[in-house]
Amino acid sequence: MSERKIPTVMKFGGTSVQDAKAFARVAEIVTGEKENSPVVITSAMSKVTDALLSAFETAKKGDSDSAITSLEPHFERHARVSDALTNEAQQKSFQTELDFARRELTDLLTRASRRSLPLSMLKDAIVSYGEQLSSRLLTEVCRAKNLNARQMDSRRLIVTDDEYGAAMPIWNETENLVQLELQPLIDAGEIPVLGGFIAASRGGETTVLGRGGSDYSAALVGAALRAREIQIWTDVTGVLTCDPRICPEARTIGTLSYEEASELAYFGAKVLHPKTIQPAVDFSIPVRVCNSHESDKLGTMILPSSESTKKKVKSIAHKTGITILRVSSARMLGSYGFMSALFQVFERYRTVIDVISTSEVSVALTLDDTASIEPIVGELKRLGDVEIEHNNAVICVVGEGLRATSGLASNIFSTISDINISLISHGASSVNMTFVVKEEKVGEVIKRLHNEFF
Ligand code: ADP
Ligand code: ASP
Ligand code: MG
Repeated sequence: MSERKIPTVMKFGGTSVQDAKAFARVAEIVTGEKENSPVVITSAMSKVTDALLSAFETAKKGDSDSAITSLEPHFERHARVSDALTNEAQQKSFQTELDFARRELTDLLTRASRRSLPLSMLKDAIVSYGEQLSSRLLTEVCRAKNLNARQMDSRRLIVTDDEYGAAMPIWNETENLVQLELQPLIDAGEIPVLGGFIAASRGGETTVLGRGGSDYSAALVGAALRAREIQIWTDVTGVLTCDPRICPEARTIGTLSYEEASELAYFGAKVLHPKTIQPAVDFSIPVRVCNSHESDKLGTMILPSSESTKKKVKSIAHKTGITILRVSSARMLGSYGFMSALFQVFERYRTVIDVISTSEVSVALTLDDTASIEPIVGELKRLGDVEIEHNNAVICVVGEGLRATSGLASNIFSTISDINISLISHGASSVNMTFVVKEEKVGEVIKRLHNEFF
């Protein structure tokens, strides 16, 4: 028996497939990787997921006609790419695909306006068309460029629970299906092209992996295939020293450890989906973040471990829209069971706590997701007095060996000594230092820290 081929998984984000030029670049980048058995994963064309979500909201209010009309410009964007880059027969077949999508979406949006099926289920089915169409289109474009591409439906590969909107993959089943379906194609020299973000529940209903979830799809597929590398192609050259929208002078970081990258992704570095790293970590697969507009640059390599730099700080991430809850109770003093009761409340409402800090008689914690804040606060009031503070931001300074470096905390805080800091968490992980400031201060804090450390 011949040996199996070890693939490179290449994921292209929305801005890497925004128009015909971008699609052509992707086909070129894939061609460059042809000898390494590429498996291609694509996001929806940029802005399409947002458009589908807003069409769903319009339909929900009862106006399914406007909802479907609002999608027309996006259908046209797809058709323009097809016209520019594929042959006549391909254009015709893609047009059939677009007509089918338009009919299906009309049906789904009408159902949403009549509420004839559960809305959360309809929403995922609707939003999945972004990746269904982009993956079909990219397959055609690759074929037109003489690549042996074949579209594969991710909904037959990635199995999830039925938490619509942000479903959890079921690893063993996903791993089996991906190996069973994709490895033979790879071994035969074909290039599978998959839509990221979309999956299906065991019952076969379409689900999605949460916003930005195509990175996660890439990591799952890469892990299942024990890929040589997972490449995340985006519109910036790797993971940068901070969000370039705040500091245009942000620089590319050469290497990051899995731990550093996870902290950055979790605390808001949008360039990677927070859950992306885990499947890669489990099988020690390198993840490379690179720029589809500058494909000759190496970008950032994410590896099991990385070197610490002289200044220790490698990057600064942030997340806005954070709410702080403070629970104080004299009962806490010297009692056990209090923390457990507190955590159980969050567990019941499936709400994740980001940062936590405790004193003798109070606990302060931060939430990103406030969907269930009312019932949570209701229950917390049985444990003590509760204060709520909206409009905060978490800032996370990341670097290997950060905890072990004396004087670093004072260096960080003296840089922003005139700004009020409401919560600090340092030491839970050796690679990060996290604190909370008012949302309106974020830009300034990051600029000052970036200035100090880079
Ligand atoms: P894609 O569509 O390729 O998935 P995203 O928009 O999800 O791209 O992520 C890329 C964006 O992440 C960049 O354009 C940048 O504005 C933002 N970003 C935030 N923090 C960072 C960071 N530390 N390094 C790189 N990009 C960052
Ligand atoms: N298209 C989806 C989104 O915009 C998934 C992704 O791009 O990763 O969230
Ligand atoms: Mg993304």
